[in-house]
Amino acid sequence: MRYISTRGQAPALNFEDVLLAGLASDGGLYVPENLPCFTVEEIASWAGLPYHELAFRVMRPFVAGCIADADFKRILEETYGVFAHKAVAPLTQLGANEWVLELFQGPTLAFKDFALQLLGRLLDHVLTRRGERVVIMGATSGDTGSAAIEGCKACENVDIFIMHPHNRVSEVQRRQMTTILGDNIHNIAIEGNFDDCQEMVKASFADQGFLKGTRLVAVNSINWARIMAQVVYYFHAALQLGAPHRSVAFSVPTGNFGDIFAGYLARNMGLPVNQLIVATNRNDILHRFMSGNRYDKDTLHPSLSPSMDIMVSSNFERLLFDLHGRNGAAVAALMDSFKATGRLAVEDDRWTEARRLFDSLAVDDENTCATIAEVHGETGYLLDPHTAIGVKAARECRRSLALPMVVLGTAHPVKFPEAVEKAGIGAAPQLPAHLADLFQREERCSVLPNDLKAVQDFVSRHGNRGKLL
Ligand SMILES: *Cc1c(COP(=O)(O)O)cnc(C)c1O
Repeated sequence: MRYISTRGQAPALNFEDVLLAGLASDGGLYVPENLPCFTVEEIASWAGLPYHELAFRVMRPFVAGCIADADFKRILEETYGVFAHKAVAPLTQLGANEWVLELFQGPTLAFKDFALQLLGRLLDHVLTRRGERVVIMGATSGDTGSAAIEGCKACENVDIFIMHPHNRVSEVQRRQMTTILGDNIHNIAIEGNFDDCQEMVKASFADQGFLKGTRLVAVNSINWARIMAQVVYYFHAALQLGAPHRSVAFSVPTGNFGDIFAGYLARNMGLPVNQLIVATNRNDILHRFMSGNRYDKDTLHPSLSPSMDIMVSSNFERLLFDLHGRNGAAVAALMDSFKATGRLAVEDDRWTEARRLFDSLAVDDENTCATIAEVHGETGYLLDPHTAIGVKAARECRRSLALPMVVLGTAHPVKFPEAVEKAGIGAAPQLPAHLADLFQREERCSVLPNDLKAVQDFVSRHGNRGKLL
């Protein structure tokens, strides 16, 4: 499998190089040159497979030529063996033909574990074979950081540095990062905000001299391997609800458009998906595009669903590429103009094409809490605020009551106690057994000033398991 850039100017790469690449050299994102497509018979034959075996069948074409079948099978069995629930991604029924796909049974209680548990293991496999080490640098306002650290903690060949804004992440989220101890794990609390952290990561990627030749790897949601891993659970859920002989709809709590883009790929790979609902919070740039063809940058609005607080959605470019007939030059021109003006619209027929599959809704904090209360009242089930936005959007935008509607349950409610408290239902979410002692565990974290040089010095001193880079 070869991968090409959405802006058409960067060299095509194989899976292994895409895994290590992050952004393409022309500023674009990597996508498969040809998407695999499965027949109805093939998909039907996968019904009832354990999660890791289904994962092998769905992802095999993407890694073919780079990872041997036997290695890939072993890696997948390990990856999904760490999830707390035997079904890995269990479905829970909320109402008539309405389901939550629980993607929060992994070590850090959010769907990002599906991709980052795999990414860490794939990186280590490839790096061992190459005899190389890499440094990961990332910025987080919550979920990505803990999932990336959990995914890389066992890696022999990876040093990971995750920055979060000092005193500005919830205690559960901070502890999920700082209590994972290992000599290749470095938590940095920056005396600044999330954007400051993000800027320092960007500046470090742009000028990697301070690493003296060690490669820097990105684990944010533009990494192709993350998207690939997320395709699997769309197949897993749909197969249980009657696919490929029956169509299924999905409602997806959305920020950077990574998770829902995986659903779009699943559909293009042969899964009968009749509707994809983009569910956003007040940060609604994607809803403005889907409802009125206006992808216009706004200011950031902090919300009760912080993992979806974004101004622009980095993976949206991957959809634009397809909407423009995979014409890299057209996408490059569009993105250049978006960079200059902060606005973007596509031609009417392209927008209509997108709307054949996608619907959208923006849900504010008040309606998020009301939905948590509503569902708790109906069923006793406790939603996290991100998933609640997905449920609200599913109920408002659903096209067919006769087809199953699956809401992606992106996080466990215990991670976001503030929203649950504001919902006023008197129930407090409990930590699951494997994290019950989280508040007693030892923490390790370094506080650094909001200063690029200080951060880069820290990284070069602590990389390579404490040996000088
Ligand atoms: C990251 C995240 C999202 C948004 O996913 P995208 O792929 O960025 O659209 C939604 N909910 C939770 C809980 C998350 O952590």
